[in-house]
Amino acid sequence: MRLLLVEDDKALIQSLTKSLKAAGYAVDIAENGIDAEYLGNENIYDIAILDLGLPQRSGLEVLTNWRQAQNNLPVIILTARDTWQEKVDGFKAGADDYLSKPFHDEELLARISALLHRSKQAPAGEINTSGLKLDEQRQTVTNQQGQCHTLTGTEFRLLRYMLLHAGQILSKSTLTEHIYNFDSDKDSNVIEAYIKRLRKILGKEQIETRRGQGYIFRDTSL
Ligand code: CA
Repeated sequence: MRLLLVEDDKALIQSLTKSLKAAGYAVDIAENGIDAEYLGNENIYDIAILDLGLPQRSGLEVLTNWRQAQNNLPVIILTARDTWQEKVDGFKAGADDYLSKPFHDEELLARISALLHRSKQAPAGEINTSGLKLDEQRQTVTNQQGQCHTLTGTEFRLLRYMLLHAGQILSKSTLTEHIYNFDSDKDSNVIEAYIKRLRKILGKEQIETRRGQGYIFRDTSL
């Protein structure tokens, strides 16, 4: 999952980025409203964390413009003060959730997970599909044989994205975009090596190759 963090407080950026990366998210940062609006429209993010008090363009304006452009990116707004008016304005502008500062990183992580799972109607913290169980806290997967495997950061990000998009054709470039951030050395050929490793854990049939198109995680629980 690739996440856009829009925040202008450097100390908060630093601590949040650390927590978000540890939780398995690829993180890009925008420190002002203009960059934020542009990046959010690039269509590569699974979720955005949007501070409302920003230089150059307010978070509320950014959100309003995204929604006017039919951009449905899930958004959690960060409100500086615990004022009801800001929250109401945020929801009216199209926010999916909010968090008032100061907050605990764990609460933000829980809200992100809940929002990402909401559309899949899956409980947060765990993804169960096709007899597999992906534990998001421990970053492990238990296969149909009941064997639990510890995943590397990239394997975890890749598998989580595939599980939440089971049954869809996912091209190598889509997968690359959603599991790495801008600073990463993106090589879509590396995806093949990771798919190979996941097939070893989950069984060969679980991930189908569509020549010239990409991969499909087969949801055998349907
Ligand atoms: Ca701010």
